[in-house]
Amino acid sequence: LDNNKHALPKPRFVRVNTLKIGTEIAILELEKVAKVRKDDVVPDLLMLPGGADLHKHRLVLDGSLFLQGKASSMVAVALCPKPGWKVLDACAAPGNKTSHLAALMQGKGKIVACEINKSRIKHLEDTIRRSGAHNVQVIHRDFLDIKADDPTFSEVRAILLDPSCSGSGISAERLDHLLPSYSADHGTTANDQRMEKLATFQKNALAHALSFPAVERVVYSTCSIHRAENENVVEAVLPLATSHGFKLATPFPQWPRRGLPVFEGAHHLLRTDPSEDTEGFFIALFVKSAESRPQPR
Ligand code: SAM
Repeated sequence: LDNNKHALPKPRFVRVNTLKIGTEIAILELEKVAKVRKDDVVPDLLMLPGGADLHKHRLVLDGSLFLQGKASSMVAVALCPKPGWKVLDACAAPGNKTSHLAALMQGKGKIVACEINKSRIKHLEDTIRRSGAHNVQVIHRDFLDIKADDPTFSEVRAILLDPSCSGSGISAERLDHLLPSYSADHGTTANDQRMEKLATFQKNALAHALSFPAVERVVYSTCSIHRAENENVVEAVLPLATSHGFKLATPFPQWPRRGLPVFEGAHHLLRTDPSEDTEGFFIALFVKSAESRPQPR
């Protein structure tokens, strides 16, 4: 029996691309097709009833609006890059968060969008073109191969790291990949191994992000509900983060759902739950203390 048969569909979230359109004008346009409310947590995010299909809406097609979930829209806001900064989006395709960064920076400064997968680069470039951002450089690179002391990146002040993950927070179908499938010869499952591989990459990538000399803010996010890809990753890099002068900060302090209490400081972490209006997401924010930052010459 489907217990949710009478449940209302989850609301649909729409992020206004403030590089192209003002939020009030977007509301007036959207009110022609559905009831619109401003989200109470993320600026320039609008909430519409679940049934509203906006895929072919003129403002979506021309990049004035992005169909982006609430939790996904919290990530760039948590990073809070200042207009004029140089920012690195380490794992960027398809570019929803890159374009959000560009809007938050009001088109000022520079964003480098790094993506390893050639076939996803085109999608990333399309998203950026549609967003109207003119200060984004796309690079086809393995983030782990970028040297932290490469002069091109010596002025990067903030890094958004949204690496490949199991996707277990996004939909029930993707959870299927995580159901046990015991291999005959080992006691571990194929999915345990996949998760271990992902977590190893996530830890390496986060440690790498924290090692760039001028970086003072790093956001790590996943659309996973698994502790192995979330709290455990943060806990593993904490000693290194501390040695570089970083502390965990509290993104969206008013948000009630925090990290699983598995280490001291996990209350700084943010979780969203797929059972609520959001996808299942995880956000950690590292901030370097002023005295640990390079002094201006
Ligand atoms: N932030 C994106 C957005 O909001 O649209 C979604 C990013 S997706 C979760 C992760 C991306 O990281 C994938 O496109 C994947 O190909 C890329 N990726 C994985 N490993 C990478 C690496 N070592 N260097 C750069 N990109 C990588």
